[in-house]
Amino acid sequence: MTVSEQRQALLNILNRGAVSSLFQPIVSSLEQRVVGYEALSRGPSDSPLHSPLTLFAAARHHGMLTELEMLCRSRAISRFCALGLTGKLFLNISPESLLEQQHYSGGTLTMLEASGLRPDRVVIELTEQAPIDDFNLLQTALHHYRDMGFQIALDDLGAGYSSLRLWSELHPEYVKIDRHFIDGIHLDPIKREFVNSILQMAKASRAQVIAEGIEQPEELAVLEEIGIDWVQGYWLGRPASIPEINSEQLAERLNQHGSSRNEDAPIHSLLLPIPGLHEDTKVQTVLECFQQQPTLNTLAILDDHQRPIGAVQRHTLSQTMLKPFAQEIYGRKPIRKLMDEDCLRVDIRQSLQRVSRLLTSRARQRLEDDFIIIDQGLYKGLGRGIDVLRQITELKLQQARHANPLTLLPGNIPIQQCLERLLEQQLDAQLCYVDLDNFKPFNDLYGYGKGDEVLLALAQLLRELCDPQKDFVGHIGGDDFMLVMRSSDWRQRLDQLDQRFQQLCSGLYRAEHIQDNGFSALDREGRWRKHDLLNLSIGVLQLSGQHTDKLDPAHLAEHASKAKHDAKKIRGFSITLSNALQMTSAEPSTSNQYQMI
Ligand code: C2E
Ligand code: MG
Ligand code: MG
Repeated sequence: MTVSEQRQALLNILNRGAVSSLFQPIVSSLEQRVVGYEALSRGPSDSPLHSPLTLFAAARHHGMLTELEMLCRSRAISRFCALGLTGKLFLNISPESLLEQQHYSGGTLTMLEASGLRPDRVVIELTEQAPIDDFNLLQTALHHYRDMGFQIALDDLGAGYSSLRLWSELHPEYVKIDRHFIDGIHLDPIKREFVNSILQMAKASRAQVIAEGIEQPEELAVLEEIGIDWVQGYWLGRPASIPEINSEQLAERLNQHGSSRNEDAPIHSLLLPIPGLHEDTKVQTVLECFQQQPTLNTLAILDDHQRPIGAVQRHTLSQTMLKPFAQEIYGRKPIRKLMDEDCLRVDIRQSLQRVSRLLTSRARQRLEDDFIIIDQGLYKGLGRGIDVLRQITELKLQQARHANPLTLLPGNIPIQQCLERLLEQQLDAQLCYVDLDNFKPFNDLYGYGKGDEVLLALAQLLRELCDPQKDFVGHIGGDDFMLVMRSSDWRQRLDQLDQRFQQLCSGLYRAEHIQDNGFSALDREGRWRKHDLLNLSIGVLQLSGQHTDKLDPAHLAEHASKAKHDAKKIRGFSITLSNALQMTSAEPSTSNQYQMI
């Protein structure tokens, strides 16, 4: 395409209004719902200007950027409304076009009024495809939009020219982390650190982080672990002209990497069954509800089908109603005109830990505002932030009470609870009883300080080698540890454990002991005896979820311990496998023994 052909094609597109909008969902992974859609523009499908990057580059080159932006914006707004999409509409706008004077005239506001979309549902995404010369001007332009009720997102953070400067000067409500940092984040500790730092900065500046370009469940799992809630990408939904959100499919995708297996205190006990109000309820009636019930902070607003569509907080409603003429303006209006659509909703089956993370990760969540509890999308009641914190604190105290005082790993009571859960939920798992060979003579010879050092280092290794999303590490006492492993590569992890443990110990022994490959110490009868260096013995009991009905936790622990005794009979690092199925049969249990040196 020559330059003049391109110019002609562009003029054609503008004259015919031949652009279309696709919508890609932005999802809250903790709330498991779509919180908004980003509009992405396309030129005609048979044209070389189909891709927005080429289309906008051409428009910039030919001085038609503003016309194209206005066309795309109007298309996005009208389609968003025609499709009846919920949540926020994220619109991409280039800073250059924002700076052009004609934008100040409120053209966008007129478009919104015509389609009945409230400005507070629109987020302007700013990308820096070119360096910005005049920050002051940009700031003025953005203030203008903010004053009209729009929110601001900084797009492609990390990929532009001066995003950090934009962040610090513009105080956007949202920051979108560029896809580059999400791509393969599960394999790259530096990307993980980077994203973590962005989240910390965002918390300090009260901005909501959105991670873009999630293509794999592993990436999502890492983001969830870091504490990123809002996510977008092909894995959750591709840009589409008619986005179809199937909430079951969404939940499945979000849960595929199954976090929170070890944290299943549900939020049932937090439920306050306070009735919600229909969206048509008059503002005046809602005010009276608050006046009659002084302990009420929040009221949920429901649609015809009992689904929550927003909430009203006592303090915001009072503030609005204190303004001059507010009574006359709003008193007889339906409450949906004043409700906050961006309120927090959680499913009744969510764990306490997840809700607590949600309360603290949402940039604009006020702890004193109640959240809505739903059951399969329908309103159940309200929950209070303070109750979540109280229960979490209690849980943490309990964990501390039951932790091993040296390694702070969960002790026998939580180990027992973990085994109970395993049986109850009929899960497949490997119970690994880990024990140290020759620890007692080592302790006697090197002293308790060095002995503790070995135990602490082993505890740390176990923590590192287990997947916190799937596996559990407990400390039975002394040199005995219990792993409950559900990672499919558990075997490789145990082999790595041995290698890293040997490396670690080689720095602890005296030179002569390394040379002799052992040491002499007094045995229980007071005689000198030669001992090998420290080694791991691991007894593994394999548990299949289908055969758990005849088992109990005490049985399991006993058999894992027996497998460990078998492993201890073998010199050097050893893993003994036995199967829980054999425990329930009449035959005596046999175990497979492997010796690895
Ligand atoms: P963006 O705003 O960063 O939009 C995200 C881009 O990433 C979109 O490309 C989207 O289709 C793509 N994407 C989303 N999820 C994934 C994923 O999981 N993997 C991969 N590989 N890609 C993903 P698209 O639609 O081609 O848009 C490209 C850029 O064009 C946008 O980047 C935005 O900067 C610009 N753009 C699009 N529409 C408009 C518009 O109306 N106005 C302006 N000024 N710019 C626009
Ligand atoms: Mg964007
Ligand atoms: Mg982007």
